[in-house]
Amino acid sequence: MHVLWNDQLLPRHEVHIDLEDRAYQFGDGVYEVIRVYGGQLFLLNPHLERLQRSAQAIRLDLPWSLPQLAHRLQELVAANRLVDGAVYLQVSRGVAPRAHAFPRAIQPVLVAYPLPASRPTEAQERGVRATFVEDIRWLRCDIKSLNLLPNVLAKEAAVERGAQEAILHRGETVTEGSASNVFIVQGRVLRTHPANHLILDGITRRFVLELAAKEGISTVEAPFTREELLSADEAFFTSTTQEIVPIVEVDGRPIGAGVPGPVTRRLQQAFYAAVQAVTQQ
Ligand code: PLP
Repeated sequence: MHVLWNDQLLPRHEVHIDLEDRAYQFGDGVYEVIRVYGGQLFLLNPHLERLQRSAQAIRLDLPWSLPQLAHRLQELVAANRLVDGAVYLQVSRGVAPRAHAFPRAIQPVLVAYPLPASRPTEAQERGVRATFVEDIRWLRCDIKSLNLLPNVLAKEAAVERGAQEAILHRGETVTEGSASNVFIVQGRVLRTHPANHLILDGITRRFVLELAAKEGISTVEAPFTREELLSADEAFFTSTTQEIVPIVEVDGRPIGAGVPGPVTRRLQQAFYAAVQAVTQQ
């Protein structure tokens, strides 16, 4: 496997992560996961723009332009002959003796490498079970930071309860999944939490909102409660690696008819068509 390490493409065993890397010690950095279909980085620019916004939000200056980053990632995909998968990219504030405040004259450290990813067809076809978990994260969930401990704990709670994903909620308000955004369908309207500081504005979330508009489905970005989710006609998760996955049950209670619904199916079809258009370019 070839890894992009700052400006170099190297075999994995030649990449050395420093003991005093601030990503390792403080989670002081930001990241992205970008899907690759047919050898093409899907929705690359929105991902890189979000990386830049996340970096700015933690006052980390990226020393690379977005076109430079795009070019290097394309080289990474080519060097690994990656056709269908994903790329993980993280930028750490850098390496310095351990102290909380920003060290002077520090260079960011970029690492990017391929992740295996294939469409989770069974989950997409049949839908999945989910479970509610209290959202205990900080108030800047819009930053895609390396600090993922609350997300890790929420996902582990879901796995222990036999569920595929945790649905996070602050009090009665549903925010998002532990690694995904959550949508519900109420009548003819598609609803998801607004993109503010309480959620990560998923690239797939935005893409699905656009697909819905093209399909003539009304959308509203407004918070909803746990009860509204449980009484919704349909619900689904979105994320880069999961795409659109129907939620058919939450804590033992069926959503709608307890099977994937027609609006979810339509959006999945529209998503597959968009991916096909990319891979046939
Ligand atoms: N919300 C959280 C907390 C996430 O970690 C993720 C992705 O990992 C998402 C939402 C979905 O974002 P995207 O569609 O950009 O993958």
